[in-house]
Amino acid sequence: MIERFYPNEYIDSVYELDINKFKKKGISAFVFDIDNTLAPFFVKIPDGRVRRFFERLKKNGMSVGILSNNKRKRVDIFCRELNVIYEYKAGKPGLRGLKKMLKRLETKPSSAALIGDQIFTDIWCANRLGMYSVLVKPICKKDQFVTWLKRGIEGYVINAYVKETSK
Ligand SMILES: [Mg+2]
Repeated sequence: MIERFYPNEYIDSVYELDINKFKKKGISAFVFDIDNTLAPFFVKIPDGRVRRFFERLKKNGMSVGILSNNKRKRVDIFCRELNVIYEYKAGKPGLRGLKKMLKRLETKPSSAALIGDQIFTDIWCANRLGMYSVLVKPICKKDQFVTWLKRGIEGYVINAYVKETSK
C-alpha cells in the first residue's frame, strides 16, 4: 500500500540528477516542481545555479518543463527567464496538469521523470501515471502552511522508504 507513494529515487537536490543515467533508462524529459524543489517559495526568480542547470539540461538534449500548483504570477515570473514550457495551478496530485505537460513536451509518461519535494503531490501523481519519480529534500525548512501540515505524514513514508531501500 505505502509503496505507491515511494519515489523511484531520493536525492538531496536537483543538482544530483545524473543526465546520462536517465538517458540510458530512455528518459529524455524532466518535469520539475518549483517551490522547495528549485527555489524556496519566497524566492521570486531563479538564481544563477538554476539557470545554468537548465541550460545544461537543454544542451544535453533533455526536454524540460515546469509544473507548479502555485499561482500564475509566481510561476510566470519564475519561469520567464528559464525559457521553458510551464503550467501553473497544476492541481497535483491530480493528473490533468501533468498529462497536459507531457503532451506539450511531446513525450509519453515512460520517457519522462518528475522531480519534486512532496510525496503526496509530486511523487504520487508521477507514480500513478507510470512516470519515473524523483524526490528531493526540500530546499528550505520553511513551507507554506498547507505544505507544512503534510510534512509529518510524509516523513513517515520517507522513513519507510529509506528503511526498505537500504535493506
Ligand atoms: Mg514543492
